[in-house]
Amino acid sequence: MKSQNVRTRYAPSPTGYQHVGNIRTGLFAWLVARQAKGKFIVRLEDTDRSRLVEGADQHLLECIRILGLDHDEGFDIGGPYAPYRQSERLETYKPWAQKLIDAGRAYADPYTPEEVNAFRQQARDSKKPFLYRNHRPENPPVWDGTQPLRFKSDPKPQSWHDAVMGDLSTGPEVVDDIILIKSDGFPTYNFAHIIDDAEMQISHVIRGQEFLASTPNYINLYEALGITPPILATMPHILATEGNKKLSKRDGAKDVLDYIREGFLPEALVNFIASLGWNDGTEQEEFSVAELIEKFSLDRVQKSGARFDEKRLLWLNGAHIRKLSIDSLYEKVADFWQPSSESYDETYKKQVLGLIQERLKFFAEIPELTEFFFTEPTDASVTELLHDPKNKQLRKLDDTEYRDHKPPQARR
Ligand code: GLU
Repeated sequence: MKSQNVRTRYAPSPTGYQHVGNIRTGLFAWLVARQAKGKFIVRLEDTDRSRLVEGADQHLLECIRILGLDHDEGFDIGGPYAPYRQSERLETYKPWAQKLIDAGRAYADPYTPEEVNAFRQQARDSKKPFLYRNHRPENPPVWDGTQPLRFKSDPKPQSWHDAVMGDLSTGPEVVDDIILIKSDGFPTYNFAHIIDDAEMQISHVIRGQEFLASTPNYINLYEALGITPPILATMPHILATEGNKKLSKRDGAKDVLDYIREGFLPEALVNFIASLGWNDGTEQEEFSVAELIEKFSLDRVQKSGARFDEKRLLWLNGAHIRKLSIDSLYEKVADFWQPSSESYDETYKKQVLGLIQERLKFFAEIPELTEFFFTEPTDASVTELLHDPKNKQLRKLDDTEYRDHKPPQARR
């Protein structure tokens, strides 16, 4: 593939805030595009109308802006394949659906949801996996848009290559008659993303592991539609700090903007997020964005789950803070001073920053670490300070333990 033909996309559903887990897919797609001098596209997958969260689309834009993941085409800025919001593309999906109907590869689902649930229950009772195609109607009604439109799959063994997971193959038992268009007229993700990726000339589909189980159905659908699949790259799960659970909100999957509000540097967040499942094969842990663009490669993304360790993020953020000049640090911390610092001038504040820079992990710590410097001492307080060996502020300034302690490397 010519590198300028590389077109990657980040295609989130606006169902909540962006946390380090979901934005990682966006970052990896962006790195692949920027390395190849290709295009990075932001598409909004909003066809599941029941899960929409108001404001999630703007939140997403704010996150990618702050992290510096600039995009070339998108639902906010348009581009040659606009619109990039799936709910505005309903007309685009219709001819593709019709093509399948005409070829006898799609049919109206005549059952009520209760009937489909009963089939599901039957399968459970007989301890067999549920397959809709076992109940494929013999004479389906003409599809009038009020019933779901289903794909008539061609169950067979399938093999494909995944840029991260390697060569994969599955048997016919995992291929089923998936829904293409729901009874509300909106396409499913399963159908819409295939059409959009094809129409938008996407070269690499980079997405989370939760889609791997459905990939055999996608391969089957690509074939029926006569579409050559793009390069598929499946990212490993991000695991919570402890155990084998996927990272969830409860286990610390925090809003990206909350990290920014607490005074984490965007470049440290990018460095940290890139390391969730990727390394360059050396011991290097600190990467600038430019280095990541140069060094990132899908074939060094690991197959197994990547551990989320917030201590590592703190350490990395501290490392990026230490690289800043005092002037630049001073500029960045403008919103983090405590009110009592107001009457102090820039020179003094910079001196204070110089004293704490070595051990600062994130900017929201500044008031606590600098309180002492902005309190007019009384004679008594000075005496107390000097003589109290447990004094918190003095101890902190002397505390090199944190700085020299590097948390364990990300488990790979
Ligand atoms: N809309 C999907 C999601 O938010 C994206 C999957 C994909 O990248 O294809 O999980």
